[in-house]
Parts: sequence; structure tokens; C-alpha cells
Amino acid sequence: MDSHIVVAIDGYSSCGKSTLAKALARELHFIYVDSGAMYRAVALYFIRNQIDPNNNSQVLEALKNIHLNFHSRDYETHVTLNDEEVSSEIRLMPVSENVSTVAAIKEVRHEMVKQQQRMGRSKNIVMDGRDIGTAVFPNAQIKIFMTADPKVRAERRLRELLPKNPTITLEEIFENLAHRDYQDTTRLESPLVRAHDAIILDNTDLTQQEQLLFALSIVEPFLEKK
Ligand code: C5P
Repeated sequence: MDSHIVVAIDGYSSCGKSTLAKALARELHFIYVDSGAMYRAVALYFIRNQIDPNNNSQVLEALKNIHLNFHSRDYETHVTLNDEEVSSEIRLMPVSENVSTVAAIKEVRHEMVKQQQRMGRSKNIVMDGRDIGTAVFPNAQIKIFMTADPKVRAERRLRELLPKNPTITLEEIFENLAHRDYQDTTRLESPLVRAHDAIILDNTDLTQQEQLLFALSIVEPFLEKK
């Protein structure tokens, strides 16, 4: 049995997964991996190079030409796409609008999952996403499935995006979240679903500190066993 610990955090868009995952990783001195950033970087490449998600040969060719790299500085994910820092650009609306379509492509998922599994092979990690507890690390010791009221999620997202994008509206965000949730839960390839052994965390009425304490209470018994 592996001696390292994997914490898998899955859930709907803008539920605060990355906020919790980062705080938990910082507290435990684990590596934090934002798997959504990988799909976002692939989506950015598809947009820039006008790759048609329905054209299999274009998709396969694109995947050969995409080289992603992660650096974690102060638990912030810095992503490079073919050596270019794209950490800010992948958070903008054009990427958010296209990412779930790109993430539904079987070949894209297979490549990303392979890379994610490599990252978690020998280290203690916290990884957040949509299929971490079901497809990437089905044997993760700790699985958390996050959810929250859709309106609260959209309001939180608005606060986060407004400084960079002052014209964005609550309606636009609400629609984008609903659309991504729909695509993520209905796609054929590893759809977003709660792993049967994941603990549900509904954070609608919880502060960040309360969520962290809840997550720590789940992880701590595993630390003691080590
Ligand atoms: O987590 P984030 O919202 O940045 O993820 C962006 C998109 O990437 C999601 O809406 C989803 O379509 C996709 N994704 C995925 N599987 C993951 C992580 C993200 O399909 N493990």
C-alpha cells in the first residue's frame, strides 16, 4: 500500500474547490494541483489555433503540440502552455465558455488524466476537479464532493472576476456556471458525479475557515496512521 496521501476534491463549478484545496495543502504541506487549469490551458490552445473539437485528427495533432507545465508558488498555480505563462488568460470568459466542450473530448481527458496520475504517484497531494475521486484517483484515501447554492456560487465568482473584468454581469456568470455544470454532468467520458465514498460538503452557509476545519477533521485520522 502506498504511503502517501491523496485528497481528491470534486464538485460543481465555482463551489470554492480550489480555495479549500489550496488552504488544505498549505496547512498540511501537501502539493496542490488544480486539474481545471490543465483543461483550461488546452481550451486556450484550441481557441488560439482554431482546433475543431469534432475533428479527431485535429484534436490528436493538437495534443501532440501542447506542452503544459505547472509551478506552484505560494500555493498559486502558474501554468505555462508551450513555455508561455497563461495563468491569467485561462481564467477569462472565452476560455470559460469553451473549456467544458474541450474537456468532454475523450482523447483530451485521457492525456490529462495520465499527467495528473503521474503528479500524484509519489507525493502527498490535494487535487481538485470533476473526476479526481472517480477516474484519476479512485483509490484516494480522502474524497470530498463540494456543492453550494447556484446563486451563492455565481455571486462569489462575480466578486472574484470583477477586478479583472469590470463589465462582467451576474447573469453572464450564472449562465456560464449552469452551462458548464450541464456539460460536465452529462458528458459520456467520466462525467462529474459524486464518488460513492466521497463526503459531501455543502458550503452555502460556511465560511472558508469552517470548511478548512471540516476538511482537516477528515484528513487528520489518516495523518495519524502514517
Ligand atoms: O475547475 P475549473 O472550473 O477551473 O475547471 C474548468 C473546466 O474544466 C470545468 O468546467 C470542466 O469542464 C473541466 N474539468 C474537467 N475535469 C477536471 C477539472 C476540470 O472536466 N478534473
